[in-house]
Amino acid sequence: MTTATVGRRPGRPDEAVGGVVPREVVSPSTVAEVAEVMRAAAADRLTVVPAGGRSKTSWAAPPSSCDLLLDTSRLDRVVEHVAGDLVVVAEAGVRLADLQAQLGAAGQLLGLDPPEPGATLGGIVSANASGPRRLRYGTARDLLIGATVVLGDGTVASAGGKVVKNVAGYDLGKLYTGAHGTLGVVVSTTWRLHPVPVARRAVVLDLPAASAAGPLAVRLSRSTLTPSAVELVGTAGGAGQLLVLFESIAESVAAQASAAVTLLGGGSEVEELPATFGRRPGSPDDVLLRLAYLPTALPEVLAALPHGTAVTASAATGVAYAALASSDAVDALPALRAALARHDGTAVLLRAPEPVRGRLDHWGPVGDALDLMRRVKERFDPERRMSPGRFVGGL
Ligand SMILES: Cc1cc2nc3c(=O)[nH]c(=O)nc-3n(C[C@H](O)[C@H](O)[C@H](O)COP(=O)(O)OP(=O)(O)OC[C@H]3O[C@@H](n4cnc5c(N)ncnc54)[C@H](O)[C@@H]3O)c2cc1C
Repeated sequence: MTTATVGRRPGRPDEAVGGVVPREVVSPSTVAEVAEVMRAAAADRLTVVPAGGRSKTSWAAPPSSCDLLLDTSRLDRVVEHVAGDLVVVAEAGVRLADLQAQLGAAGQLLGLDPPEPGATLGGIVSANASGPRRLRYGTARDLLIGATVVLGDGTVASAGGKVVKNVAGYDLGKLYTGAHGTLGVVVSTTWRLHPVPVARRAVVLDLPAASAAGPLAVRLSRSTLTPSAVELVGTAGGAGQLLVLFESIAESVAAQASAAVTLLGGGSEVEELPATFGRRPGSPDDVLLRLAYLPTALPEVLAALPHGTAVTASAATGVAYAALASSDAVDALPALRAALARHDGTAVLLRAPEPVRGRLDHWGPVGDALDLMRRVKERFDPERRMSPGRFVGGL
């Protein structure tokens, strides 16, 4: 590989992925350069870990090896914004915040709001990261309508396209969503967009018991109201605050917020969102978990967490984030997984600080899908050089 063009250099300790320091780092700036890097890596049998904004490199299991960190930050072009079709094509290293600013100028948005600062499109796809508005817009898997990836041998593969109606061929984008770089490098993404809502109003309700958010969210889901987000911020066994967000035209948000106050039995209407909205709970010293469960089971999920655990929950979608004290996590995680399983739930470890890293199972029970995942990995990365060990079952 031509070292000069792809900026090949030694890796630094602060670039470690899950504690594994890359031997070298490359920063290709075109798809052709990524393909060239991957061909050279294949020839030298190097393991490769892609990384974008580095906001989620601590998510997923640490790689078993990282010869080459493939930095996508120079793949930073918004290739095409077809505003009339509500579609954008953007390279994987484009930062979500930059894309939103550009789309916003045209009155449009990409309906993803994961809170990690500096996150790139490729990283968001690969980690399937989402935020509160997943209730309204879905997740990356729903909004991604096309993707170009570079496989471990340098093959460039594209799927999907620039039309929302598209059912021809395999939906590669869905496969790559949440694959944590284990199947190849996402280099370009095509998204369906939405118009920026003209008005916003939220109802904020303090709850003496955070668990009360469960039945309230169910009541909202069964109503005719169409909130963009139903977010709980609170602690397990303690108090909480529920925020119900409406985004639409002015008349609609006013009517819906007023109806929500009646339906919830209280709450105050606000137009500015609190700074905590959408943030992950806890601090970097905590073990961060993503919990998924039947939305009706929120009270049971909160009861299964150690008392006082900081939690945020997208209460109407059955997704929550919990920040366990590191000292609790080793004992608490297996019991939590057993409790969640009773509600079709799972607990995935997103971030584990140094003292407990390696002592915790990132994924928990996988069920009967592992054999299929192994066969997919075998087809896409038979030499197991792409982010080895990061995904379930050591894939
Ligand atoms: C020849 C052909 C080729 C096609 N090619 C493509 C393609 O290339 N790509 C692609 O993406 N799609 C394709 N489609 C699918 C099709 O064009 C539509 O995308 C699909 O049918 C959805 O259309 P619609 O949203 O208007 O729903 P409809 O077709 O109107 O309805 C879909 C279903 O939803 C039900 N439904 C509709 N509205 C409601 C409601 N308000 N409440 C409850 N139920 C409701 C209907 O009864 C029906 O069962 C093709 C279809 C045909 C016939």
